[in-house]
Amino acid sequence: MNTIHTHIPGYPRIGAARELKSALERHWKGELTEAELEEAGRSLRARHWAEQQAAGLDYVTAGDFAFYDHVANHIQMLGCEPARFGFEPESTPLSRYFAMARGAAQCSCGHAHQDGAALEMTKWFDTNYHYLVPEFSAETRFHLTSERLFGEVAEAQALGHRVKAVLLGPLTFLWLGKARGGFERIELLERLLPVYGAILARLKSEGVEWVQIDEPILGLDLPPEWRNAFETSYWQLNQAGAQLLLATYFSPLEENLGLACRLPVAGLHIDGVRAPQELASVADWLPAHKVLSVGLVDGRNVWRTDLDAALERLAPVLEKRRGALWLSTSCSLLHVPYSLAAEQRLDPEIRSWLAFASEKLAELHALKLALTRPADAEAALDAARQALAARRRSPRVHSARVAERLAALPEDADRRTSPFAQRQLVQQKRLQLPVFPTTTIGSFPQTQAIRGARSAWKRGELTAEAYAQAMRAEIEHAIRRQEELELDVLVHGEAERNDMVEYFGEQLEGFTFTANGWVQSYGSRCVKPPIIFGDVARPSPMTVEWAAYAQSLSSKPVKGMLTGPVTILQWSFVRDDQPRADTTLQIALAIRDEVRDLEAAGIGIIQIDEPALREGLPLRRSRWDEYLAWATRAFRVSASAAADSTQIHTHMCYAEFNVILPQIAAMDADVITMETSRSAMELLDAFGEFRYPNEIGPGVYDIHSPRVPSQEEMAALLRKAAAVIPASRLWVNPDCGLKTRGWEETERALRNMVAAARELRREAA
Ligand code: GLN
Ligand code: ZN
Repeated sequence: MNTIHTHIPGYPRIGAARELKSALERHWKGELTEAELEEAGRSLRARHWAEQQAAGLDYVTAGDFAFYDHVANHIQMLGCEPARFGFEPESTPLSRYFAMARGAAQCSCGHAHQDGAALEMTKWFDTNYHYLVPEFSAETRFHLTSERLFGEVAEAQALGHRVKAVLLGPLTFLWLGKARGGFERIELLERLLPVYGAILARLKSEGVEWVQIDEPILGLDLPPEWRNAFETSYWQLNQAGAQLLLATYFSPLEENLGLACRLPVAGLHIDGVRAPQELASVADWLPAHKVLSVGLVDGRNVWRTDLDAALERLAPVLEKRRGALWLSTSCSLLHVPYSLAAEQRLDPEIRSWLAFASEKLAELHALKLALTRPADAEAALDAARQALAARRRSPRVHSARVAERLAALPEDADRRTSPFAQRQLVQQKRLQLPVFPTTTIGSFPQTQAIRGARSAWKRGELTAEAYAQAMRAEIEHAIRRQEELELDVLVHGEAERNDMVEYFGEQLEGFTFTANGWVQSYGSRCVKPPIIFGDVARPSPMTVEWAAYAQSLSSKPVKGMLTGPVTILQWSFVRDDQPRADTTLQIALAIRDEVRDLEAAGIGIIQIDEPALREGLPLRRSRWDEYLAWATRAFRVSASAAADSTQIHTHMCYAEFNVILPQIAAMDADVITMETSRSAMELLDAFGEFRYPNEIGPGVYDIHSPRVPSQEEMAALLRKAAAVIPASRLWVNPDCGLKTRGWEETERALRNMVAAARELRREAA
């Protein structure tokens, strides 16, 4: 019989009641000293280790905590903070750390200097967690500069825990960074490895039994020089004498499987949820004396584990391997909420189908019991079986109506009646817009008054009618201001929406919401994704009343505003009992019905936002085509109910679309508006080269900053755009929605934007 142990790659850090968030925000406001913040961190770590121990895990994990971000912790530990942070004489390691995350403190002139700008932030693999991007130059040197990790390990040891420390591996760390100047990040490896060696030796000397070293890039398509670097690097790291558990997650290893199995480390962790098909080969290839850690419990989703199926998946491993077997979650639990204990208002049946971080710890323990003391596991296994059986046959999950509709969906449901060229003529005739038409992306400032009214209504202090009245007043206000600004295509302003996904989820069947299901997005910021548990259907119109009201106030066209199916999917926890593509198509049908109803209410322009289309791309390129095929089809199914005379817009942000331009074009929206101003319209070159066939609104100003751009600045960007895209196909709009801005700056910016459009019209005429 193998030795069976349990552990997790990492635990959430924000706190079950988001204690870290409030401590951080108080610290930034100056209400909490560094020492008090450190104390808050210490007590959270102690609690999280106690939970892991109480759940029966064999190891607790130390080193997964971070005040802002674990990659930032590594930047500081490895001594490669960019020089622009921390020149102030009174700076401390923690103040420099927060400067990397939030920008250096303002100097006495009152302006944040460009050279104090925060590090860039980007998505952690295919999750909604964002990390701070390390910056490297050819001069970058590394030194062990922070004791934080060792301090946390010592804390856990002092509390009597058996500790596994965790580190981000050197190759993944370099991969995640960006190089300034003409050199390759991998050239820094030689300088970096000795520092890692020193950290490992130190951990070993402090009595740490295991060090988990995360190299999730082994699940990516790696250039050969990166692949080759693994073997030599790990030979070198192995000299430190610490027992290393090399951890991979999020993606199958594929061509890197053999490499991962033969690296000179003491153990390997693999993601048994995302790559169950690789379990058997890893069991064969990994030398018999090594530890194999299998992630059987999904760290990326919220469903209760099918324990029987998990055990079955493990069968090839149990048969083949004599070495120790560790049971784990697929990845760190950073990506799921804390505990169902806080969800007393959740429907009890749905609740019984779920498992958050703390319930996942219990599942690991049940799996271990099933292998070691089967009689003691029966109760847990039975409970899981019953919940699963109930979920499988629940009429709340499976709707005959939805199934019939999908079956009856015609082949051409994803095609508009006529090709774009023809639609364009009909739409021009109907809309009578000038060249360089001006518009905005949808939302106007979400003021304190709007949010106050919404929470008063949710608390029952405001009647539904009074709330609706307040929202109508906001819509009227937005319409009046847009008319004053003389924009050409108006929007209602989205005052009634708390969030562009939640707003729709709350009105669709198949969605539920938690009270406290927060997941860290970055720093102190958390999101509370909806949970899609069943077939999606739209019981009644979701936006028509607001849109029709807005249109009744103006003779100019008002755009209807919808969130697209892929974005709703991407920003929710989704079903694991059917393919993502199927769920997306169901959402698409609901949006399609909404398009029809908006049209029937006289709305002539409808925007379907898909800001998350790009981020849904699988980590492996070999899977892109399949994803893009169903994702763009879902968009087209949503949009194609529209008549030729209805103009369909879409909107995308978060840059880097160049790689998928043909697929974006295949979505066949009449107009696409997108983020471009921050890259000074770089994207447009790609659009020009590819000859994007339909109309485009490249954002002419960055809405992420309160700065009001001048007319000249925006006119210059438009000229740049007009150089690659025919003027007859260009729109004029900001980069994204304006909900985070104030009215005063918004009005000034839009006034300049409209003036810039006029300038270009004059030049064209
Ligand atoms: N229509 C949305 C808004 O203006 C789009 C937001 C987004 O792209 N993220 O707020
Ligand atoms: Zn946007």
